[in-house]
Amino acid sequence: MKDTTKHQGLRNQLANVLEAKGINDEKVLKAIRKIPRHLFMDSSFEAHAYQDKAFPIAAEQTISQPYTVAFQSQVLEVKPEEKVLEIGTGSGYQTAVLLELNAEVYSIERQHELFKKTSMFLPRLGYKPKRFIFGDGYKGLLEEAPFDKIIVTAGAPYVPKALLAQIKVGGRLLIPVGDQEQVMTLFIRKSPKEFEKHELGDFRFVPMLKKKN
Ligand code: SAH
Repeated sequence: MKDTTKHQGLRNQLANVLEAKGINDEKVLKAIRKIPRHLFMDSSFEAHAYQDKAFPIAAEQTISQPYTVAFQSQVLEVKPEEKVLEIGTGSGYQTAVLLELNAEVYSIERQHELFKKTSMFLPRLGYKPKRFIFGDGYKGLLEEAPFDKIIVTAGAPYVPKALLAQIKVGGRLLIPVGDQEQVMTLFIRKSPKEFEKHELGDFRFVPMLKKKN
């Protein structure tokens, strides 16, 4: 598969659609215009890669809807060199957006098939997170904590305490919380003991799973 001017045109259109839906962070829109989303998907879905939709990837998981990726990236307010923990590597598309924002990215995936596939694929496109981790996102990544930002890209039944504990004061945890449908929930750490909580609307994610296979 390759990237063509036709794909570039479709990406520009997608960025316009996201802008119309309220995404206004220029750096995020620039990343959407740049990243070849069609290469992150099964070739049978390639023709639809620049629609604002989620699609199946391996291991019964999905590549998130571009609007969701853009929204989460915008709310996270990632600044260059910030340490960001991503839970749910999946296809690596959100990882690529975080890298375009110049974050230092640590990404955890619990499905071995996806961990293997994406940790080989992303660097080939030039996207190099600090670490890919095969493990359980409920635990966060204690040995690399604290993080400026933590982003969860699967629906969490509850907010794991370990994740709240691993953000810096002034840092953010963005996590979709709920079973069938999730409320996008932002926690801003105000002090070691205080968190400000914001609920940012309903989204739909595949569930965050408890145990490794
Ligand atoms: N950002 C990804 C989203 C993939 S869907 C993308 O757009 O491609 C959610 C991902 O979270 C899946 O890959 C799933 O395997 C992973 N996941 C689910 N539960 C997890 C857990 N407990 N720890 C780490 N990853 C998990």
